Parts: sequence; C-alpha cells; structure tokens
Amino acid sequence: MQGRELRGELDGFLAEHEQELVAFRRDLHMHPELAFAEYRTTQRIAERLTAAGLVPSVLPRGSGVICDVGSGDGPTIALRADIDALALPDEKDVSYRSTAPGACHACGHDVHTSILLGTSIFLAQQAAAGLLPGRVRLIFQPAEELPGGALEVMAHGGISGVDRIFGLHCDPRVDVGQIGLKAGPITSACDKLVIRVTGPGGHTARPHLTADLVFALAKILTELPAALSRRVDPRSSLSLVWGKVEAGSAANAIPDDGVAEGTVRCLDENAWHAAPDLIKALLEAVAGAYGVEATMEYTRGVPPVVNDEMSVEMLAEAAHRALGAGSVVPTQQSLGGEDFAWYLESIPGAFARLGTRSPGGLTHDIHQGTFDVDETAIGMGVRLMAATALTALWESRPVTVTEESITTPA
Ligand SMILES: [Zn+2]
Ligand SMILES: [Zn+2]
Repeated sequence: MQGRELRGELDGFLAEHEQELVAFRRDLHMHPELAFAEYRTTQRIAERLTAAGLVPSVLPRGSGVICDVGSGDGPTIALRADIDALALPDEKDVSYRSTAPGACHACGHDVHTSILLGTSIFLAQQAAAGLLPGRVRLIFQPAEELPGGALEVMAHGGISGVDRIFGLHCDPRVDVGQIGLKAGPITSACDKLVIRVTGPGGHTARPHLTADLVFALAKILTELPAALSRRVDPRSSLSLVWGKVEAGSAANAIPDDGVAEGTVRCLDENAWHAAPDLIKALLEAVAGAYGVEATMEYTRGVPPVVNDEMSVEMLAEAAHRALGAGSVVPTQQSLGGEDFAWYLESIPGAFARLGTRSPGGLTHDIHQGTFDVDETAIGMGVRLMAATALTALWESRPVTVTEESITTPA
C-alpha cells in the first residue's frame, strides 16, 4: 500500500472512529486506576477489542490485555501502550476530570491506551480484508509507573515470538501532528543505593582505638562519586548523588554504625549494567582503607530506553506516510525513566514522542495535576501506530518476496 492510499484509508477510518476514541479517552480519564489495579480499564479494553472481532487475553492479575491481530507465517510486530494512572489529584477544571480521589491520568496513558485501541480496530479491519502481511501483537501493559508492568507482560510470554516492538509517549513540548524521534538512548536509568557502614565505636578522645566511623563514612560519601567520575566514560553521565546520611547521636561519641542513601542516574546502557559491581568494588576499597565494614543494597530501576536505528527509520517512514513530510522532529534523551526499556533489552524496537501541545498553546508538563493534551493527538497517534505496524511488517518480510507482491491492490 502506497503512502497516499494508506493516508486515505486512515482518514476514512478516523472520520468514523475518532469521536469514539476521544470519548473512550475521556471515560478512562474520569476513572483512572493505579498500577496493577487497572481492572475497569482492562475490562473496557477487552470489551471493545471483542466487539472488533478480536480475541483479547487478560493477564492473570486481571489488569492488562494482550491480543494478536492477523495470523500466518509472516513476522510479528508488537505495539505497546501503558494503561495505568498516577497517584496525584486532578487539578483540571474539565468535564472529564478524574472522579477517583488522588488519582489522575497525568502521564497521558489514557491517550496511549485510546491510540492503541483505535489502531487495533483499524488493524482488525485490515486483517479481515486479508491486507495484513503478518501478525501484530497488541500489548496493553499495566503498571508502567511502578515500574514493573513490562516485566509482568514478559513473564507471561508477551513478547515471545515478537520480531520488533514499538511504543509512544505523549510529549507536551512538541506540537500535535509532530513526532519526536531519536536513535540510541532516549530515556535514562535511575537506581537507588543504600550503604551501611559498621565498626567499633568509642570516645572521640581515642579515635585510634575505634574505626572512626563518621570520618570513614564521610570519605565514602566523597570518594565514591569522585572515583566513579574517573572510572566511567564521562559521556555515559553516570552520577551518584547522596540524598540522606545518618550516623551518631552525640558530639563526643564515635558511633558503631551509619547509613547513606542516594541515587545512581545514567544515560548509557552499558555503564548502567556495570554500575553495581563497580560501585561495590570502590566501596570495599575505601571502607577497607579506614577499617570499617560496608554493605551495599542496590535497587535497580529501569534501564535507559535504547532505540534501535532500523526501528526508528521505520517510525520515520510511517510518519511520512501517515502524517506527511515534515512531521518528524528530532528529540533529546530525557533524564526520566520508562519501563519500555525492558522490552528493548530482549528485542529490537523504538519508542516515539507524540506531540500533544496545541500549536501556540501552553505546555502542561507530565506528572502534574494540570497535565492535559490536545485530543487531536489521538488520531495522530492512531495514524502513526497503524502505519508503523504495516511498515514494519512489509519491511520485515523475507527478502525473496518481491516489491510487487507485497503491494496491495488499490
Ligand atoms: Zn509517568
Ligand atoms: Zn508515562
């Protein structure tokens, strides 16, 4: 299918379904549900997919849906939307304001869900007409904000047999109709670190008979970030920053334990993987020099989302086909985290930023109670996701297939 034909088909589809999708988004917005409690949201998605002739499968916890469209031996492309809301109050004065106290779709996952639902209905029509050259797996993922929903999906075989995966996120700094793309890392990692130090305490008059624990802890606090900055490629922007320190209770007593807590942020996937072992080795070296025992508790957040270059090209091609030339804009790596990264540790894929700002309008940042979108972004998202799935299916077919045979009849 050529770009113009696909655009025409999507125009026709959206003329019929865009209002329904906006209404679906507003309904989700009024009934936000937090991570792993998206039961109503899940039911609504499953019902609509069933009405479209599909056979959705609800994840065992009752939150999250996986559904395949199409069949046959062709490639399998996955499209993912996250469906959970945030635990913060809705501060907007709109007819579709949240009715759940302390919960709000302030990250736009209601928009992502409605986009994937629209894309599902469109692809179901394509499959019914025999126009889908492979299979598309629709993943309505729970609990992105926890994070952990991506791991839940993967634990239940969500990406087994999938060749490539795509996702998108609302970007209020980009005008509606535009798509922000970047190959390589596009989000960051953030982990949590807790260090406990112990050693014999005593009187401050006799530090040589103790481990002088506060002094040793202070050395650890300054030496670790300093050593890291010399041991890791500065381009990876691995940074360890302390947020909490506790030791001792009196001016003249050396305590026998202390604790420090901080975060490790990182822009680079390889540095992120290497960080725990490196920090542990540095900690042991510094603690050993001052005669204290140190233990480390390292809690992994999510890795950076690292976009595969070929997948980004497919997104760009799809944007040109479905949204027109000039719809793709460059975007930068953010310091935020996104659990889509877990899928990309296993299979290639890419994550796009979907413009949601009305041209000339205000920027409402995500994770704020005032966040809202220009709802025409829903139709734009459907165009992008549907075109991306078709583009990726066409381009992932075996090379023996000729260009002519994959061009569908007009
Ligand atoms: Zn979020
Ligand atoms: Zn989000």
